[in-house]
Amino acid sequence: MIAANAISPRWVDFHCHLDLYPNHEELIAQCDKEEVATLTVTTTPKAWIRNAELASRSRYVRVALGLHPQLVSTRSAELLLWKELLPLVRYVGEVGLDAGPLYYRSFELQKVVFAEQLRACADAGDKVLTIHSVRAAGTVLEMLEEYLLPSRGRVVLHWFTGSYSDARLAVDLGCYFSINADMLRNERHRVTISKLPLSRLLTETDGPFTSLGGRTAVPRDVATTVQSLAEVFKMGADELAEAIRANLARLLAGLDTCPTHVAGY
Ligand code: MN
Repeated sequence: MIAANAISPRWVDFHCHLDLYPNHEELIAQCDKEEVATLTVTTTPKAWIRNAELASRSRYVRVALGLHPQLVSTRSAELLLWKELLPLVRYVGEVGLDAGPLYYRSFELQKVVFAEQLRACADAGDKVLTIHSVRAAGTVLEMLEEYLLPSRGRVVLHWFTGSYSDARLAVDLGCYFSINADMLRNERHRVTISKLPLSRLLTETDGPFTSLGGRTAVPRDVATTVQSLAEVFKMGADELAEAIRANLARLLAGLDTCPTHVAGY
């Protein structure tokens, strides 16, 4: 079904794990009620199936097809299922690389899996990816340059913690950045974020892995992140929120649509 894009979100949470909350369905309803355009990511392709079912009638929630780099050491065999499901989706994630102390042992295997995923996305075209790059920003960017040029897919770097020079390269490669509240609490990351082009910023929660006022963050909490980002950019919160919405529209525009998805979002 192809229809005109009818949604006009107030807020954007471009990386959240709705299936890791006890009240998954309630949160989908909340995203619709509060008009939060929410990209809920999955950590395995098996999880995508149930997620897609639950979100199938949502106007604001979209589901990304993932295979999380932290699970690659035990779940790399699911790459086959991931590839089978890829033609059904426009959004891909969570995918990427993690060279942190708990996962660097599987780093070589992660690179093999990620390269296959990027190649498959490039072949298919029209995918929008949300990418994890813990302690691996440089390698992620090298692999994007090699396997997935901007003409073949769009990339959002989620919870980006690379250096400023990595960030510059990412901008040159057409990447967007989804920013969460925890990133803005870190001085070094806040400085890097302040130098990013406003036109490449989105917001995220990465819920349930971030918190707000001592409780687990939920998608509508991006309103608070917009407030903090507005301070960083010395703008009004409404103006910043408008810029984020425009960025989402631009990210999603200009690509052919998947036959099973509504045009645009
Ligand atoms: Mn995540």
